[in-house]
Parts: sequence; C-alpha cells; structure tokens
Amino acid sequence: MTVQQQTATPTVLVYEDDPGFPPRVNMPVPHPVPQLDTQPFPTAIADAAPQPDGAGPGTEAFRYWVAADALSRAAQTWGPLVPTGTQWHPTAGRALTAHLDAGVDLNAFYDRKGLWFFRSTVAGVTVAACESPEIVAHETGHAVLDALRPQLFNAASAETAALHEAFGDISALLTSLRLEPLRIAVLAETQSDLELSSRVSRMAEQLGAAIRQGHPNAVDPDCLRNMANSFFYRDPVHLPPSGPANTLSSEPHSFSRVFSGAFLKILAGIFRQQDLQDQAGLATAAEIAGQLLVDAVVAAPVVSAYYAQVAGHMIAADQRRNGGRYGPSMRSAFIRHGILSLEAATAITEPEVARRGAGMAEATPGGSEEEGLTAVTVHGTSYGITQPLTLSAPAQERRFGIASSDPAGGSVRPADPEQVATSYLEDLFRRGRVHVPEEHRTAAAFVDDSPFRLKTHEVTRSAAGEGLALVRRCFD
Ligand SMILES: [Zn+2]
Repeated sequence: MTVQQQTATPTVLVYEDDPGFPPRVNMPVPHPVPQLDTQPFPTAIADAAPQPDGAGPGTEAFRYWVAADALSRAAQTWGPLVPTGTQWHPTAGRALTAHLDAGVDLNAFYDRKGLWFFRSTVAGVTVAACESPEIVAHETGHAVLDALRPQLFNAASAETAALHEAFGDISALLTSLRLEPLRIAVLAETQSDLELSSRVSRMAEQLGAAIRQGHPNAVDPDCLRNMANSFFYRDPVHLPPSGPANTLSSEPHSFSRVFSGAFLKILAGIFRQQDLQDQAGLATAAEIAGQLLVDAVVAAPVVSAYYAQVAGHMIAADQRRNGGRYGPSMRSAFIRHGILSLEAATAITEPEVARRGAGMAEATPGGSEEEGLTAVTVHGTSYGITQPLTLSAPAQERRFGIASSDPAGGSVRPADPEQVATSYLEDLFRRGRVHVPEEHRTAAAFVDDSPFRLKTHEVTRSAAGEGLALVRRCFD
C-alpha cells in the first residue's frame, strides 16, 4: 500500500483589495503563500511569519498574510517597470520592512526606515490598516517613488507631495489589477467602462468608513478616496489648505485626486485600444499605463508646475515606446482634468519629443537628494520659530515649456519656487503637521501638540549650515 503524496501548494487566506464595509463586505480568498524576498524590491515583515494554516479575519496570522500578500504583489507590480539597478532608498535597508501594529491611529506611513501600519477600534470593529491590500500597496508606492525620485521627499511643494499621493493610489489600483478575479469583477461592475467608479477605483473602503464615524465630511461617502472623479486642476498655491472631501484643497491627498483621476481615464483609454476588451486586455493596459508613469517620473524635472511636466513626459514616453499610439487618450484625460491646457497638450508633438529625447533617455533613477532643489530661506518669527528657516523649493529647468489649465481659459502661469515653498510651509502649519522642538519655538509659537495629529514634517538644525531647516519625516 502506498501513501498518496500531497503536492498541493500551501495557501493562505487573504483579502484581495480591502476588507470592505457593509453592505459591500469582501470575502477572504485562498492565495499561494507569498514570496517577499524578490528582486528588485525585496520586502519583509518585522514579525515572525505564522504558520500558513488558513487563519481567518480577526486573527494576527490573517493580518500578517494579507499584508505579506499585498507587499509581495505591489513589489512585483512595479519591479518589472523600473529601470535596471533601481533599489529602495539606502536608509530603508536591503528589504523594505513593514511593521503591522505600530500604534493606535487610523493611518499608515512610509518614512525611509520602513512602512508603519496603525490600527484602531471603531464602533466595536478593529480597523487595522495592514489588513487593507490597497493601503499596503499605497504605502509601498511611496517607497517605490522614493527609490525612483528621492528629490521629491523633501521638496517643499504641494504639487510634488500630491503626485506622491497619486502614485500611492495608482500603486493600489495597479496592484489590485494584477489579480485576474478582480479584473473580471471590475469589468462586470463597470460594464467595461473603466472610468466608472468600481471596487478598484474606490480606495480603502473600510478605513474610509472608520474615519467617517468621527469626521463625517473628511472622506467620500463610500470609500477613503475615489479615482473616478472630475476634479479640475487649480494651482494649489491658490487653494485652501484643507476642506471637505467633495472639494479640492491643497492638502496632498485631496489634490492627488486630480492626477489619479486622469490616470484612471488613461487606463480606460488604453484598455479601449487593446485588441480584446477582456481581463487579459485589462492586464496589458495596466502594465502599459504603469510603464509610462514610471518613465515619466524618472525623466520629469522637479518643478513648480510638476503635474504638467509628468503629464508631458508620459506623452513623450508613449511617443518613444509605442510610436504615440496612446497619445490621444492621454491628452484627452489630462485636458479633462486641467493638468494640461489645450495649448500644452498640442505642443508636445513628435518633433518636439525627438528634439528633447536625448535628455530623457539619459535620465536615471535615484541621484542626489538635492538635485534640482533650491534653498529658500524665510524669517522664522512669522512661523513662531526662533531662527531663519530653510526650505527646499523645486527649481529644475522645465524640459517642456508647458503648464496646466487656467479655469478661465489658456494656461496657468506657474508660481515661482519661493511662492510654492512658502505657501507649502504655511499650509503645513495651518494643518498642524509640523513638529517644532521646544528650543526652536518663540513665545508666540502656535505649534499643534495634539498627539492624534501625525506630524509629517519637522523643524531641525540645518545640516548645510546656519539656522533651521524644514525636513519631511514621512508620507502618510
Ligand atoms: Zn500616502
């Protein structure tokens, strides 16, 4: 008598995109045990791996495998798209490490040391950020963009910070679309019109519901943010620092929706141009759109009108990779969201791309942190600070002389680097996001000391010389 060999691949139960929230609750599904240590973006989890024994929702083992599966999938979404030699920011170490229970909050962040996920109990339900693959993929997206473009981390600019947030949501979207069952589900839900709101365009439904309990107007009615939106570009210098979710503000997550909204329409346009509008065609469209975005962020100079430069470089990348096949879809999407003015969209012609091509082809990921940034020093007293404060303003030379739409018609005249940086600083203070150590505060300082408000920035002694500098701690 012989014993039948069991050769089945070990599996774990995971959520595919988000736990969801009633009435749209998602069911865990079995996935193969995820591989974390893969190139070029190895990931790790600080806790020891539990036995893959099919643990379900509500257990730490389940949370571990959901996070591991999402980390692995996000790393494998971007890995094939980035230039050879791309690696995590050096301070993150060889493998990007996730900490799944970092404290009490409804949030998560990336801080160049790793990924930190918080949790909180709301109305009797434990909402753990690490249990949402969309949140895990969003934070991993911050780390990927930091690997490609470290200059964006400290840039004092609402538009570059918002592009980071859009990249995070795009990371969540593309990571979801790597799963065939989700591609099939979203095609059914949208009847193949991917511009429409769907399970993959709605970000972090469960976290959104939890935040809504305490802050009813801070998030969308059915999720945290939705890439299916109609927000039209305004220069963030002229927007209020915060506002309800149905308005546009200069707060980076709010303003990110202008760019992520255009990206969803681009994906929909590229999908329509595939030979077959089926799940395989959607997988191809997602890869093409992701590749054009990676090409663009590597090559686009860090400038005040950053959205327009990234948009122009996506159109240029398509010209170089695909002979301009998807140019009309991209121009249309960027125009609909005001990221490119009509004149800007029509200015990026084939000869123009050919003329600027050499510089774009030479662009490489990483590089010096300060490259393209210029120091802007402001009086500390206006901000309740004892010494002059230095900001890193975006000031590279534009490759394409293009800009976003002015709602009144024509193109916006981009603000100068000094105005961009000081407006950004003022907004950070108005939102209570800056940590100022006691020794640097004046008697009239207005520092927000609430332990519940995450400080994304801090004022610290300038590494370069005299005075103080504004530095970023994390992207949440
Ligand atoms: Zn973020």
